[in-house]
Amino acid sequence: MRIVVLAGGIGGARFLTGVRAHAREVGAEVTAVVNVGDDIRLHGLQICPDLDSVMYTLGGGADPERGWGRVGETWTVKEELAAYGAEPTWFGLGDRDLATHLVRTTMLNAGYPLSAVTEALCARWQPGVRLLPATDDRLETHVVVERDGEQQAIHFQEWWIRHRAQVPTRRFVFVGAESAKPAAGVLDALSVADVVLVAPSNPVVSIAPILAVPGIREALAGGRAPVVGVSPIIGTSPVRGMADRCLEVLDVECSAEGVGGLYGARSGGGILDGWLVDPVDAHTRVPDVTVRPAPLWMTDEAATVAMVRAALELA
Ligand code: GDP
Ligand code: CA
Repeated sequence: MRIVVLAGGIGGARFLTGVRAHAREVGAEVTAVVNVGDDIRLHGLQICPDLDSVMYTLGGGADPERGWGRVGETWTVKEELAAYGAEPTWFGLGDRDLATHLVRTTMLNAGYPLSAVTEALCARWQPGVRLLPATDDRLETHVVVERDGEQQAIHFQEWWIRHRAQVPTRRFVFVGAESAKPAAGVLDALSVADVVLVAPSNPVVSIAPILAVPGIREALAGGRAPVVGVSPIIGTSPVRGMADRCLEVLDVECSAEGVGGLYGARSGGGILDGWLVDPVDAHTRVPDVTVRPAPLWMTDEAATVAMVRAALELA
């Protein structure tokens, strides 16, 4: 059995720990197609927050409290940069984390595609699933905000971390998406997949940028594999993070029904055949999509594995 998972950072990483545990039991192969819209170049270094969240989490090196970055992290370089007044000061670059960005940037500068660089980094972390960036090309999420009566585009990280999404916001733009190609291996993985799972990741800034890469949405729509999504929203709560702010910008209700409707039915030009929602959302209706309830709190690995099993049963 071959499972492909579309994933963002923290939500995607947690979900993948469950997918991996299940896959080990049944002997399945897992490929994660990970968002790169959050990627940013700072101080000359290419930083891939979602790929790293997944790699560190599955590799046992993530900070469980923060949810992102490395466990046992120190911040000497960040403090030194701040002492120089080197902008941006709002982005958390840990010392241990920096080694990853140094290796990655050196390889990218030498001409290796991000997919090959990711594979090389994973040789250390052994995440137990194949990690692929959605694209090897530059694709960055930018956010059009209003400032001094004017519209201005800022990088997603500036909007998310510096402004905590608390600025008047018009829309999201996936810069570079039109000319991006799926990364090496992505379309092959989708074409041989038995099932595609959409992780409970941020639908607007984690999953949408993956689907914005021409060819990926088409591969899902025309593929033989059923596509089952897992709701990142429980009741009216985004559980963790600011998905509610993102959905508000799109004028989509922050609910399992809102997000399910945003993804839409595969038969109607969307991506879903099935939509897993929490029991509190059992009333959810998405036209032409089979909705099923299962507890969706990823409190520990056992709970997450149960979620994954429910998603696969639905598929
Ligand atoms: P990010 O890239 O680090 O922001 O992580 P993702 O986009 O992969 O996931 C973030 C989303 O995960 C949040 O917006 C939440 O909606 C969702 N999430 C986090 N924890 C849980 C959980 O325990 N259950 C469910 N269903 N969703 C969760
Ligand atoms: Ca992210």
